[in-house]
Amino acid sequence: MDARMLDKADLATVLERLAQTRRLIAPVEDRTGAAFASVDEVAAIRLDYRNTSLSAKEIVFPQTEPLLVFRDGAAEERIPAAPGAVLFGVRPCDARSLTMLDAVFRGGETEDPYYAARRDELTVVALTCNEPGPTCFCTSVGGSPDDGSGADVLATDLDDGLLLRAITDRGEVLLGELDAGRPAEDGEIEAARDLAARAAERMENVPVPTDAAALLATFDSDLWSDLAAGCIGCGACTYACPTCHCFDITDEQKRGTGHRVRSWDACTFPPFTLHGSGHNPRPTATARLRQRVLHKFSYCPENFGEAFCVGCGRCVVHCPSGIDIRRILARLDAVLTANSEAGGPTR
Ligand code: SF4
Ligand code: SF4
Repeated sequence: MDARMLDKADLATVLERLAQTRRLIAPVEDRTGAAFASVDEVAAIRLDYRNTSLSAKEIVFPQTEPLLVFRDGAAEERIPAAPGAVLFGVRPCDARSLTMLDAVFRGGETEDPYYAARRDELTVVALTCNEPGPTCFCTSVGGSPDDGSGADVLATDLDDGLLLRAITDRGEVLLGELDAGRPAEDGEIEAARDLAARAAERMENVPVPTDAAALLATFDSDLWSDLAAGCIGCGACTYACPTCHCFDITDEQKRGTGHRVRSWDACTFPPFTLHGSGHNPRPTATARLRQRVLHKFSYCPENFGEAFCVGCGRCVVHCPSGIDIRRILARLDAVLTANSEAGGPTR
């Protein structure tokens, strides 16, 4: 696959050219530090950020979107017309999260056409991490600072140049379209690998339980009330998470005309499982936080073959109660290890 070195001085011109033919989405400065936005002025793009406050999932799975409009008994679907787009400079953990959303929204027998319309038109350029953030732990959950999962091109900041490595056919097409820079040298590719390896060494190693069945066996353990202590059910962890994907569908109407709207939901919200009868099978914060953790680390490995956490650390940053998924995982791992050594019940 093609690998090219682009002089930093040429980057703005190259991106400006790209923005003329595709929608360019990239990190720009905002009040939270950096956020993804459609970019008209390439000078606004920031590549010196650790990670964005919110993930990139909204690009393919918006927080709220109309699925159809209805009027006088007739309905019309609203499949988004998504023009070709390039997501430029997303971190590898967020690029990897797209593979998990792909498995949910298009991995089964039925494809979600709203998700697919946006995803099909998206080319992903991931920016490898030279310096991990303080809450990053991608290496503990199967990722790495230069993981290419979900990306079409891997970009690495080598100070005066940007190394661009195509890793899919779609990435190859993009590099051809950019038609810029010169072929990369082996030493430059090696330098990029070294930078990622050094970043990985600086990251915390979090013990993560990998036995989905043993984890599920903790369901009735008193441990969960301890782990969930302080959770106020705000849903910040879920909304910030690149892999959380639960949604609700509501009809909003006025005099026979209206919309069917899909909106993000969160299993940490108290009404998430509230039945029409008033019964709530997850009536406590403990039951709801347990659901969030078991869904990611027990049910998803069973259903999709991997834990649905990319180690971005956003839930750690955003939780107002200081609940830290890394500490939860380490504690669960310690309990499961002790239990397996003792051969006793998971308590
Ligand atoms: S659970 Fe937390 S660390 Fe894992 S992907 Fe979601 S927000 Fe990131
Ligand atoms: S962000 Fe913290 S307090 Fe809010 S729902 Fe998640 S775990 Fe609970």
